[in-house]
Amino acid sequence: MTKSSVLGYPRIGADREWKKALEAFWAGKLEETEFHARLQEIRIDHLRKQQAKGIDIIPVNDFSYYDHILDTAVMFGIIPKRFAYDGGSVPLSVYYGIARGTKDAAASEMTKWFNTNYHYIVPELDGASPTLTENKPLLAYREAKENLGIEGKPVIVGPLTFLKLSKGYDKSETDAWLDRLLLLYTQLLQELASEGVQWVQVDEPILVTKLSDEDVQRLNKIYETFAVAVPGLNIMLQTYFESVENYNDIVALPVQGVGLDFVHGLSGNTQSIRTSGFPADKVLGAGIIDGRGIWKASLQTKLNLLNELTEFVTPKRIIVQSSCSLLHVPVTTDREAKLTSELKNALAFADEKLDEIVLLTTALSSPSAEITAKIDEAELPLLALQQSEDRNRTAVQKAVASISVQQPERSRPFAERHEAQQAKWQLPLFPTTTIGSFPQSAEVRKARQLWRKGELNNEQYAAFIREQIDIWIKLQEEIGIDVLVHGEFERTDMVEFFGEKLAGFAFTQFGWVQSYGSRCVKPPIIFGDVAFTGEMTVEETKYAQSQTERPVKGMLTGPITIMNWSFVREDIAREQIAYQLAYALRQEVEALEQAGIGMIQVDEPAVREGLPLKENEQADYLAWAVKAFRISTCTVHETTQIHTHMCYCEFHDMIDSIEAMDADVISIETSRSHGELIHSFEENTYELGIGLGVYDIHSPRVPSVDEMSSMIERALRVLDPKLFWINPDCGLKTRGQEETVASLRNMVDATRIARNNH
Ligand code: GLN
Ligand code: ZN
Repeated sequence: MTKSSVLGYPRIGADREWKKALEAFWAGKLEETEFHARLQEIRIDHLRKQQAKGIDIIPVNDFSYYDHILDTAVMFGIIPKRFAYDGGSVPLSVYYGIARGTKDAAASEMTKWFNTNYHYIVPELDGASPTLTENKPLLAYREAKENLGIEGKPVIVGPLTFLKLSKGYDKSETDAWLDRLLLLYTQLLQELASEGVQWVQVDEPILVTKLSDEDVQRLNKIYETFAVAVPGLNIMLQTYFESVENYNDIVALPVQGVGLDFVHGLSGNTQSIRTSGFPADKVLGAGIIDGRGIWKASLQTKLNLLNELTEFVTPKRIIVQSSCSLLHVPVTTDREAKLTSELKNALAFADEKLDEIVLLTTALSSPSAEITAKIDEAELPLLALQQSEDRNRTAVQKAVASISVQQPERSRPFAERHEAQQAKWQLPLFPTTTIGSFPQSAEVRKARQLWRKGELNNEQYAAFIREQIDIWIKLQEEIGIDVLVHGEFERTDMVEFFGEKLAGFAFTQFGWVQSYGSRCVKPPIIFGDVAFTGEMTVEETKYAQSQTERPVKGMLTGPITIMNWSFVREDIAREQIAYQLAYALRQEVEALEQAGIGMIQVDEPAVREGLPLKENEQADYLAWAVKAFRISTCTVHETTQIHTHMCYCEFHDMIDSIEAMDADVISIETSRSHGELIHSFEENTYELGIGLGVYDIHSPRVPSVDEMSSMIERALRVLDPKLFWINPDCGLKTRGQEETVASLRNMVDATRIARNNH
């Protein structure tokens, strides 16, 4: 019989109970024993839900107290020396110390899990002497069995993926490290086997990236070792987020099952199966329900795909499952009371996806008229949404179609614009500016809450915002900054703010997803054609400009960032969504210009996040991302200065694309990877205005004039002084007023020194 499974279930709980428990524990409001009990309750509740829905093979050990990569490192005793750990079971203080830092030791680095918005803690191998501190998957397996009679499927991170995501070792030591890890993995799997575990899901998402020949050899070694050491255990070698490279090598491994992603790796993986078939002695984990998207699936299309797969694999050797862990989607649409039924009916979060998986499994294993009817019915909400007005804004569609045929161009090339802009603005050498937001004090947050509750009316709230703008315009003038900002006091979030004002967006009440640790995000949903419905930022910007002689930059979030930080519709290409957003933003850019704003910044911090995992798809993505930016900014007058800002990521291999955006000025975060970025400007010339962040805004520390001077001088060795700007790394929203003013004063002092020296 065909079986159903999922690769992992969200940890956070329908009401973010998990997050609340973690934070209560950290704040000392929950005793450790109660905390463990609370998390166990949540964990068991999640298992019970999957059991009740009828999932056959339920994952265990997908739960975590913070992050599953951290769990794996800690389980193997890979704990950085600075956390004073001396053997035995690892206390929570050490575990959370690694994740969050302690007063004596900095936290381990955190980074994005492949191309998702989930962040994992990077294991540090240097100095570690790995041992198995506890068999966490085994404990999870027992718990599910004892409490619910569930024959769970322990989920573990595979050795190759774990090793490749770790740092703190030299490439030449890779095999030595692998040997050390393999001993522990073997022990772990043997213990599972003797407990009677049937299936283990070994996650190797690294297999969707390009592997070297050495890595393929390592892969063979790993799974041959397991086959010899634990012959009775069924290993589901699980991949996701894309199609696998090296399909033939992978399906030849001595494992009992191979899990493939038939959503995000659909064309590559089906192509491989069609060309090479699938080994008759293995089970196929068919990941056909999207673990990352929020939409109901077209079940008929999925069933057709499953039927095609049965040409290569007998149905009893197919497990119908999610494409990846459901960690990346919200828990349930059940409690969403504010969405239109048209939209709500078309959504499937984790719990609704469980139903889809079970239905498809039944359709494959015991088809019936009733099941067929259900499958047909599932199509209806999707069709209804498809026909809704929201998805048929023909004016937008036409405009976008005609705008996007060509590469949008400014009226004149940069060199000429630069001259015209200099003549107009008369900026000094090394103009100073900031990135947009100023500290959102308790007072600002309070006023916003009162306004949301209706206790402040619109006029009172607008007056409050104007007061904040006044304060900061004066401060910026007094500090001596050249290009001012209004401070973004009216915004909580740089995407939500625009989403609320544009058509085509919806906001859930409970659609939270874990981003890192206890931190969750609630992405907006772009469900329809995006349309500009009226000015979004003009009022505050115009007000700020009326209070000063110096230029005030308008401040917008760019199309790609809005898209990458939202859940998006799937009936049209991401490229088209980006162009629609760009077209809407263009109207705001034009409105700002009309209102007399002569400098406009369009932030694109999230460009890199959308970069496809497959190298051969990256250039195309970057090309349309650049085009979207240009659509939003190209229609302004030559003297209107377009700024952009980028942060959070590595830029060194993207400089050409950044240059192609053709922004008059870019401000870019550098303090966390300064050396590297400077180095890449040695190799690539950059010939537009550029400001490299001269201090890290993530810390409350006030950097000295000397520190900033040396950052400036290093940058000036590779960048043209006539095009160089001086600014902090990112927005100052999370900082306090006092440290912000002190840091900016030092920044302006460092600028004066630089002006004297050049
Ligand atoms: N303008 C935004 C701000 O200053 C930019 C934020 C960001 O880059 N993440 O807050
Ligand atoms: Zn930033």
